[in-house]
Amino acid sequence: MESEESQKRVCRCCNRTYDYPIKKSLATRFYCATCSQLDKDSRGLFEGFNKRLRKMGAELEKVQQKLVQRDAE
Ligand SMILES: [Zn+2]
Repeated sequence: MESEESQKRVCRCCNRTYDYPIKKSLATRFYCATCSQLDKDSRGLFEGFNKRLRKMGAELEKVQQKLVQRDAE
């Protein structure tokens, strides 16, 4: 069994889910095929945005959970 099993990965840049590794795909371990072709500066910019969005999403989830708990009490 030589074929590496592809797995779902989330792009650090655009947060898209993609399969990795795929033959002939330009996707890398951290970036999907589209973002892997961006120049370094643009990629860094998007990566920064994505990080902030994910952080905000996580915080929002915490708030929502608190609200749900409060409603349940
Ligand atoms: Zn991407």
